[in-house]
Amino acid sequence: MKHRIVVLGAGYAGASVAGRLARRLHADDVDVTVVNTEPDFVERVRMHQVAAGQELRHRPLRDILAGTGATLRVARVTAVDVERRTVSLAAAGGAGQAEGAAARADDTDELAYDTLVYALGSSAAAHGVPGVGEHAHDVASRPGALRLRDRLAELTPGGRVVVVGGGLTGIEAASEIAEARGDLEVALAVRGELGDWLSTAAQRHLRATFDRLGVTVHEHADVERVGAAEVLTGGGATVPADVTVWAAGFAVHPIATATSLQVSARGQIVVDGTMRSVSHPDVYAVGDAALADGPLGTPLRMSCASGIPMAWQAADSIAARLTGGKLPSTPLRYVHQCISLGRQDAVIQLVTADDRARPAAPGGRLAAGYKELVCQGAAFMVAHPLPYPVRRRRVTATAHATASL
Ligand SMILES: Cc1cc2nc3c(=O)[nH]c(=O)nc-3n(C[C@H](O)[C@H](O)[C@H](O)COP(=O)(O)OP(=O)(O)OC[C@H]3O[C@@H](n4cnc5c(N)ncnc54)[C@H](O)[C@@H]3O)c2cc1C
Repeated sequence: MKHRIVVLGAGYAGASVAGRLARRLHADDVDVTVVNTEPDFVERVRMHQVAAGQELRHRPLRDILAGTGATLRVARVTAVDVERRTVSLAAAGGAGQAEGAAARADDTDELAYDTLVYALGSSAAAHGVPGVGEHAHDVASRPGALRLRDRLAELTPGGRVVVVGGGLTGIEAASEIAEARGDLEVALAVRGELGDWLSTAAQRHLRATFDRLGVTVHEHADVERVGAAEVLTGGGATVPADVTVWAAGFAVHPIATATSLQVSARGQIVVDGTMRSVSHPDVYAVGDAALADGPLGTPLRMSCASGIPMAWQAADSIAARLTGGKLPSTPLRYVHQCISLGRQDAVIQLVTADDRARPAAPGGRLAAGYKELVCQGAAFMVAHPLPYPVRRRRVTATAHATASL
């Protein structure tokens, strides 16, 4: 019987794991199935661009997985049973349950696995703030970004947009909207000071860019309520908003928390250096859905910059354990944080291996070009998760016999 590997989620992390594993292992020995709600690979790092009205390249997952032997199931994961080793699926919405390189046309709503890779990513975190669900938009997913795009299109000149959240996503969203819609009044509400985790050079560049784009920055503004036409801060201030964009961090899907997997306080699956669950050896987790230690023991940041290397680490570890090979030992480390500021500007904050800002932070048009290359590179790496040819290795008899690793 073949070893059944099921990958949940085909974002940056999940699609990379599936493609890399399918290229490493012999098709006679393994079945690799990827489950995703959408038939396309979504470049989530560009959702603020979608909200600002830009069209992205269409990237069908069936093309990305073509020739690998991996099967794509377009469905929504509703539950995981780590005791029975099954995954429950529901229709993703719309026609067609199965797509892809070797599309499966059955209607079964349960998948059994021998090895599970959990890569369901994240969504916008409301942090329990009243009014977010009813009144705020977000750029954390494609449906959310498309809704925001449509709402922004309805705004007439002078319309007020407030982006809440001073992290990378909030900064990118505010500058993208302000650049695309110079007729709107765009504001950014940040809890501390603008870019306070960045170097002095980067902070200076951010302030200059926001001045140029006409973005008003509300600092020390802890938003406690979102209304239909305003946001209210803890300090008692009211900031008028025809549209509120909530970009105050990411939250993970509750599916993992509902299992006996060991999860963090935020619900991320706790994994070791090989991206294997510390509680269940037949489960791996990667990307935003996983909590892994980076260099110096600091947790890896929810980011594409972490998700793709985590995916390589997981795929190579699974392949090594199944084939009796050597476990990978590449340390996961950071190099930079690339922050787009519209299409013409960006700032590249150089960082230490554990993601602390170094003094250097080049910005401007060249930096914007570099950031664009990084985004293109990320999508390229998803489609080419193993850029060199390898021999597909056979699964060892022991791994076959035990099914679990
Ligand atoms: C606007 C924006 C800008 C960003 N910019 C950057 C940046 O510049 N650099 C950077 O490093 N990071 C950036 N990020 C963060 C980055 O996008 C995420 O960290 C990254 O996408 C995480 O990858 P992932 O594979 O874990 O999750 P995702 O990319 O979110 O993929 C998860 C996949 O799982 C699928 N899925 C979810 N739930 C289910 C379900 N129940 N059933 C089936 N499938 C499901 C989704 O459809 C999706 O395909 C940005 C994020 C946003 C929103």
